[in-house]
Amino acid sequence: MWSPRAGIRRLTDLPLKGYMDQCIFCRIIERRVPARIVFEDDEIVAFEDTRPQAPIHTLIVPRKHLTSLKDATPDDAPLLGRLLMVAAQLARERGLEPKGYRTVINTGSWAGQSVFHLHLHLLGGRVFRWPPG
Ligand code: 5GP
Ligand code: ZN
Repeated sequence: MWSPRAGIRRLTDLPLKGYMDQCIFCRIIERRVPARIVFEDDEIVAFEDTRPQAPIHTLIVPRKHLTSLKDATPDDAPLLGRLLMVAAQLARERGLEPKGYRTVINTGSWAGQSVFHLHLHLLGGRVFRWPPG
């Protein structure tokens, strides 16, 4: 549990408001940091990844700051479903359906999560291996 006296060792030790001020995806959503936004509505913003791992690499991000999937509650189920539906729509619009595409959520350090604002990766335009690295 965070307390002022315990000190801040990691960004995630900040109280939620302070963390959101620093969170790169919150800053993109608030248009305080530029990004190539390809979709947005009242709940979701999607933008191109700055370090694409495939010819198409888009991040689908809820406006609500959830640190990762492990912090989602049953109340978030409709929002999580909508993330997938937006990914499917973007994949369809970009012509990815015939060959297929990959959707990924990294959760925690072993999975390689590097931005602690829940997001869904949409990757397409090349062959993907299984199991993933
Ligand atoms: P994660 O590793 O947390 O699953 O994915 C985070 C993704 O966010 C990475 O693919 C990384 O390239 C991307 N990313 C990190 N910082 C920025 C940024 O400032 N802008 C954009 N558009 N993508 C970012
Ligand atoms: Zn955030």
